[in-house]
This record gives sequence, C-alpha cells and structure tokens, in this order.
Amino acid sequence: MARENILVVEDEEDILELVSYKLSKEGYGVTGVASGEEALKTARERLPDLVVLDLMLPGLDGLEVCRILKNDPSTHHIPIVMLTAKGEEADIVTGLEIGADDYIPKPFSPRVLVARIRAVLRRTIQAPAGEGDAIQVHDLVIHPGRHQVLVQGKTIDLTATEFRVLHFLARRPGWVFTRYQIVDAVHGYDYPVTDRSVDVQIVGLRKKMGPAGKYIQTVRGVGYRFKE
Ligand code: CA
Repeated sequence: MARENILVVEDEEDILELVSYKLSKEGYGVTGVASGEEALKTARERLPDLVVLDLMLPGLDGLEVCRILKNDPSTHHIPIVMLTAKGEEADIVTGLEIGADDYIPKPFSPRVLVARIRAVLRRTIQAPAGEGDAIQVHDLVIHPGRHQVLVQGKTIDLTATEFRVLHFLARRPGWVFTRYQIVDAVHGYDYPVTDRSVDVQIVGLRKKMGPAGKYIQTVRGVGYRFKE
C-alpha cells in the first residue's frame, strides 16, 4: 500500500518539527509548511491525504485555510485535523462547521496525535453507513427502516427526534458534531429543534438508553460525539 502523505501547517518551528518527525517515524510521507499561503499552494499541488492545520497562523489563519480548502472542489475531500490552543472553543466549533474533520488541543502527546490522525484516515476511507442501513455499534443496533433501536437485544422506545439524533451520531462514531450540525441534520421532523434543545434531546436519549447512554459523549464547549 502506498504510504499516505500528510501536510503539516504550523508556524511554531518546534511543533512543526516534532509533528513531522513523529509522523515520518510512523511511515507517513510528510511535508511541513509554516504559513496559510504555503499551505494552500502545497495542498493544491500535491493533494495530500490529510492536512494537520494549526489555527493560529500569521497572515492567512487556519480557519481561512480550512474554509478555502473545503470550498475548493479539487481539495474539499482532503480531511483536515486542526491543532488548537486553549480557549479556542469558538474556533473549533467554526472549524467543524466549515468542514474540518477533527481537532487536537495543544499541548498534545505525540502518541495521541498519531492515534487521532490514524483514526481520521481510517474513518475517511470507510464510508459512513448509508441512510437506510442498519448500524451495529458496541451493544447497540439501530434499524432506520424500522425506526427501532435495540440495546443488548432489547428495544428502547424513542421519540422521532431522539431517534434522528442518535442515528445521526452513531453513523459516524468518533466524529465530533456541533449542536448546529445536529440541529441541521434532524431539522424539520416532529420538533422545532434549536441548539439548546439538542441538549434536552441528549439528556432524554441517555436516560432511555441506560448504561448505553455513555456512548453519547459530551465534548465540552464543542458538541457531542458517539464513542468510537
Ligand atoms: Ca501557531
């Protein structure tokens, strides 16, 4: 199998060096650049398999780079993992909503970095379950056609909105979704869903799911994800 190429965008030299070194050691091909402008140029020329993108960059910042790459038909499929600093929750939310695939908060351990990147590459290669496919994850089975959810073989009774929220999250275990993305996905069914009411839906869902409720994880300041 051809090794995957990763573009690392980071203006702090130490971090760029560390990330590049760890990823090369894992067998990835790595190109490092230190500015948003170079990131765009390199991404367009080389079409990497993944971009590790620091948000705080001089000049064109990470969010702008993310927006441009995700709006460009030739690069929009490339997964982007943001590197974020403390206090950048609002930027993380924006980044996810404009199409970033994941984020890694600084300071990070190199092992976590490698694991997250590997997970994103794996998730990107595997297409998510189709809208109508049954999903089996942990001890949970979700049948969209039957609108049925089984926890350890027992049916649980969900409202239509709760079902939509659960199905949306469970189709992509490990992905973080913002409240807005969840609202957008379940909008227009039986319930006027707002971002705060997503929290209410999640509380109800977790309660009905019992011990399986822990699979719906809160990502503080960002949103929710289904446990990978
Ligand atoms: Ca930086």
